[in-house]
Amino acid sequence: MARYTGPVCKLCRREGEKLFLKGSRCLSPKCSFERRSYPPGAHGRDTQFRRGRASDFALQLREKQKARRIYGVLERQFRRYFRTAQTRSGLTGANLLMLLESRLDNVIYRLGLADSRNHARQLVQHGHFMINGVKTNIPSYLLRPGDEITVRDGSRNRKYFREINAYVEARPSAPEWCSLDLNALKGTVVRLPERREIDSPINEQLIVEYYSR
Ligand code: SF4
Repeated sequence: MARYTGPVCKLCRREGEKLFLKGSRCLSPKCSFERRSYPPGAHGRDTQFRRGRASDFALQLREKQKARRIYGVLERQFRRYFRTAQTRSGLTGANLLMLLESRLDNVIYRLGLADSRNHARQLVQHGHFMINGVKTNIPSYLLRPGDEITVRDGSRNRKYFREINAYVEARPSAPEWCSLDLNALKGTVVRLPERREIDSPINEQLIVEYYSR
């Protein structure tokens, strides 16, 4: 599945807030948003002051783009998630966030096994994980309650996984809807997350309005 390969920090500057796309670097003084918090481009600094009140459409579009960028999903796939969310019972916006949260790369990031969703995506694509005992290298794989993610035997001796305890301790702990057994290098999706447990700074209602135009 295709992915965005351009400059990452520009995305934060475009959205006007930190999206935490680069893991620990985002918390360091090297964060590009800390140094240049104006939009990217030759006239970014000027437009920052010239912009008037954003239209409703602009707000909806920016919220949709922000969600896509946080979860690393391109437009076509994001629209597919939205259609799936519409077919499920309950609130479409909350369903959409639940679908995004249940992606394999996101769950690995939430478990603390990766520094960022991009890092998780790379680990998955390099074939380090199994789901329910089957090797999987698809970052967009949608997990269901009860699914188990384990690090493959062949990958356990790699330096990164040998030192993973120190990395995991430095990262936020796993949310309640999934659990991590660090000794066994195994994560489990206990249940799907509820909306209040998803801390991504997204107003999903604006995304629903964007696609309902
Ligand atoms: Fe965004 Fe992280 Fe880059 Fe800072 S370091 S601009 S938070 S991706």
